[in-house]
Formats: sequence, C-alpha cells, structure tokens
Amino acid sequence: MERPDAGLSARGIVVRFDGLTAIDRVSISLQAGGILGLIGPNGAGKSTLVNALTGFQRPTEGSVHLDRTEITGWPPDRIARRGLARTFQAGRLFRGLSVLENLAAAAVGSGLSRREAEARALELLGWMDFAEHAELDAGSLPYGDQRRVGIGRALAVGPTYLLLDEPAAGMSDAECDDLVALIDRIPREFGCGVLLIEHNMRVIMNVCPRIHVIESGRTLAQGSPAEIRSNDAVVHAYLGTKTERGRAER
Ligand code: ADP
Ligand code: MG
Repeated sequence: MERPDAGLSARGIVVRFDGLTAIDRVSISLQAGGILGLIGPNGAGKSTLVNALTGFQRPTEGSVHLDRTEITGWPPDRIARRGLARTFQAGRLFRGLSVLENLAAAAVGSGLSRREAEARALELLGWMDFAEHAELDAGSLPYGDQRRVGIGRALAVGPTYLLLDEPAAGMSDAECDDLVALIDRIPREFGCGVLLIEHNMRVIMNVCPRIHVIESGRTLAQGSPAEIRSNDAVVHAYLGTKTERGRAER
C-alpha cells in the first residue's frame, strides 16, 4: 500500500448509516501548520467526516492516518491524546465551571498537573484576549464567546491538529471577523494544522488558502478560494443563492 503523507490523512472514507451513505469516498489531507477549509451545504456530511476522523464515528470503509500512524477505529480519547483535538458544533463547555476552569480541565486531561494546567489556561486566555473573563461562569457567556472558549479548550490540550466544526455558527459579522483573526494565528503560533468546517463562506474565504467542498457526502471540488468561487459546480450547488454569493465576495 502507498505510504500516507505526514500530517492528517484520510483516504477513501465511506460512512453509511442504515440506508444512507453520508460520506462517499472522501479523501483529505492536512499538514501541521496549514489551514484547510471544508464547506458544503447543510447535511452534506461535514460533521460526519469530522466524527470519522476523530473516532466518534467508525468509518464503514477507508483509513485515517495521523503522521503515518493508522488511527482508523481508535477510540476518541486515544486519538485526542495522540494530538488530534476538535470542537463540537454544539458548545459542550462545562457549565457551572469558570472559563479558566474549563480550559484548565482540558489541559489536566492532556496530562498536565493542576498548577501547569492553570498556567497554560491563563496563558491561552491572554493570547485570546479573554483574560478579563477568566472567572466568569462559562455557561453564562454570550453564544459567540462560548464558541471562542470552546476553541481555547481545544488548544489547551496542546494539539498538533485542530478540527473546528462550524465555530462561526450564530455569530454576528463583527464576531466572525474576530474569529477569522484568531483562527488565522493558530497555525503560526501553535504550529498546528487546522481543519475549519464552516457553512459561513465569509469566514472560509478569508482564512483558508485551500478549500475542499463536499455535497451529499461526495467531493465536489478542491482548490484555492478563487478557484472555488469560479467553479461552476460549486456556484450551482452551494453559492446558488444570492446571499451566499454575496457573503463569498465580501
Ligand atoms: P453537515 O454537518 O454537513 O450538516 P452531517 O454530517 O451532520 O451534515 O449529516 C450528513 C447526513 O448524515 C445527513 O443526512 C444526516 O441526517 C445524516 N446523519 C448524520 N449523523 C447520523 C446518524 N448518527 N445516524 C443517521 N444519520 C445520520
Ligand atoms: Mg454539521
């Protein structure tokens, strides 16, 4: 068999649920330090693909390699310890814990002592320009802030690869711009690779040098933002509505 590239590499992923093929022979690869955008209409299979990469869903066919180690079928916690972290589309913060405690708990889970974990959490909150909210109950934050804390939690485990599942969902345009700036700095400052799953074209086009488009579980196109914008199949399937076209052009 061909030796997979270093990085996060998924080959020929198929995920079937009873009668439905949610992912149909999708291959993606992501290098440490890179950002890959994954877009597609609602129900295209984006979250299912993330689940297949992170062990939350066993692929029906295909393989996943993390820096040349095959991780297909590994449980999620083992994959996470190996350096692949993710956020969830629906928050999943610890409610009743402070922002700082949320990040520190994640860092403890990655093997740090309590003191080291708190230091890392504080450092991250400073980096995110969020230190003044450290003591607030994470569950009481506005929605957009909760999503930022979710990213901080994922970074607190010190990942090599980070998968963000629709981090901009429910955010205002101003919040989206802040988020873009934050995501843009992650590969440079943490050296990790980012797979950014978004429905929001404005976010994807602004932050991803390479974009992979799926529709109905299949790869529709891959390329630079300019190539994706001018791809007829994508324009038809995804940018067909005026609103999305407008967002992509902004
Ligand atoms: P996206 O994240 O792109 O909006 P999803 O990956 O959530 O899409 O869903 C892709 C398809 O798979 C949808 O038709 C969805 O209903 C279906 N699906 C997702 N998870 C399951 C599941 N656990 N069981 C059955 N069908 C599922
Ligand atoms: Mg989804």
